[in-house]
Amino acid sequence: MSTNDTLPSANFIRQIVTNDLKEHKHNGKVATRFPPEPNGYLHIGHAKSICLNFGIAAEFKGTCNLRFDDTNPEKENIEYMQSIERDVKWLGFDWAGLFNASDYFEQLYLYAEQLIEQGLAYVDSLSADDIRAYRGSLTEPGKESPDRSRSIEENLDLFRRMRAGEFADGQYVLRAKIDMASPNMNMRDPAIYRIRRVHHHRTGDKWCIYPMYDYTHCISDALEGITHSLCTLEFEDHRPLYDWVLEQLRNIDSIPPKPEDALLKVKYVEQAAKLHTPQQIEFARLQLEYTIVSKRKLNQLVTEKHVKGWDDPRMPTLAGLRRAGFTPKSIRDFCERIGVTKQNSWIEMGVLEYCIREDLNENAFRAMAVLQPLRVVIENYPADQVEQLEISNHPQKPELGKRQVPFTQVILIEQDDFAEVPPPKFKRLIEGGEVRLRGSYVIKCNEVIKNAAGVITELRCSYDPDTLGKNPEGRKVKGVIHWVSEPESKVAEIRLYDRLFTVPSPDNEPNFLDVINHDSLDVLEGCRVEASLAAAQAGNGYQFERTGYFCLDAIDSVDGKLVFNRTVTLREGGWAKD
Ligand code: ATP
Ligand code: MG
Repeated sequence: MSTNDTLPSANFIRQIVTNDLKEHKHNGKVATRFPPEPNGYLHIGHAKSICLNFGIAAEFKGTCNLRFDDTNPEKENIEYMQSIERDVKWLGFDWAGLFNASDYFEQLYLYAEQLIEQGLAYVDSLSADDIRAYRGSLTEPGKESPDRSRSIEENLDLFRRMRAGEFADGQYVLRAKIDMASPNMNMRDPAIYRIRRVHHHRTGDKWCIYPMYDYTHCISDALEGITHSLCTLEFEDHRPLYDWVLEQLRNIDSIPPKPEDALLKVKYVEQAAKLHTPQQIEFARLQLEYTIVSKRKLNQLVTEKHVKGWDDPRMPTLAGLRRAGFTPKSIRDFCERIGVTKQNSWIEMGVLEYCIREDLNENAFRAMAVLQPLRVVIENYPADQVEQLEISNHPQKPELGKRQVPFTQVILIEQDDFAEVPPPKFKRLIEGGEVRLRGSYVIKCNEVIKNAAGVITELRCSYDPDTLGKNPEGRKVKGVIHWVSEPESKVAEIRLYDRLFTVPSPDNEPNFLDVINHDSLDVLEGCRVEASLAAAQAGNGYQFERTGYFCLDAIDSVDGKLVFNRTVTLREGGWAKD
């Protein structure tokens, strides 16, 4: 796709919501939610969903909840919950309400009893394999389980005993009684509860049965008064089940008198009869080239140590992107540009890079850093002098002010800014030639010093004192190179990142681990950065002149050691280390 599309982008959901409001559907309200499962860190795909859900709510003066869809306790934990909250806030959004599917466990359970009492659910003792075999196929109808005709009383008794912990994991499941011959496989008596003795990060050991996603999600949406339940395309086939569950609950009419939980049940059933049905709308998942957007696979990269953690700057997680120097604005801009459609497509990494480059070009302070230093001695410059040069922080934005950059007799330049045998059109420094030091003087190289092995170790130069802020008299000097003072600069480690995978769609490989790019990290030690960068702040991007956009790695920069991450190269296509 082109990166020059005009904003706002194609978004059919905006259109649907606009029409709904016009027709006063959902009582003229807009309520959305972002419903992550806390089983990993959020990734760039989630950003699409976050921007969509929170964006639609903001645009139409509605609300958006954050809801943890926490029905799989074996994979979920508090660390993931906390990271999700942090990342949603970092992206710039705030939720109207913070909920957990587990907040509704009691209510979900009582609704399941209610379904049983209406003859709409049954306890099945078929094994998981048998259930699969009985389900049939896309071309063959399913077969009814022998337990399908179990009496309501027996189902209720068994279900209560499932909750009470009388049975082993997997011994029984509760299934919705819908239609074993439905052309939609999701409607062939889906399981809605399973027995699983796993500690839950919020409910502890209170439950040994857990509701299934399809049963939980629609009820959670309805209880929160969600109007537009936005989800990805793979849930399109689940929509009939979503609607079926809510339809049954709304039709609940009789409440048989029951012992202890009767009052609560009465209350919940009354609430169910009034439930509003949210409208499920599906959109295409984001697929980004050269990376992976699946928490399960990202988790594998972390646990098998292919990366340093969820926040490794090569990861497509929000934590990784943040550490790499991506700004919330660039990610929101990216999500807006890619739009929201019903067609699955692959987005080029270049689109994301374009967005961060645009933001940083506009807002990042300029600074100088030398990645591979070559010593330059300016022989006609006083040995002990430190001259503070004032250099603007942003050439196009004088309002961002100036900083002081110390100039001294010994400076460092990039090794490849000098050539002994210059290629054609080489405008930088050569023996006997002149070059301008950015924000400073013009220097001339008089002598090249080499060690015994023939490696250049130093350049002896002279400077023209009349060239600070003005052109030299009577001659043209075309090249401009960056530099730092040797005694005044700081040592830094600079990390250059490349794509994590060697092919555009690692997800389509038989084993995505086979296509990991083993050269995705290049660590340069002994780099030198200008003195002002000792005060660099994480979260601020810097353009290292002529080199790229960088940010401080706040986690690894400790005890005075500076570590910078390259966020993105200066220009498109700069992925190969230049
Ligand atoms: P994963 O496979 O990474 O775990 P998921 O869909 O299972 O993805 P959830 O935590 O359930 O992850 O997702 C929360 C919300 O984010 C859901 O509404 C989901 O549809 C949406 N989402 C997840 N991945 C993407 C993606 N790549 N593009 C757009 N939306 C996504
Ligand atoms: Mg999921």
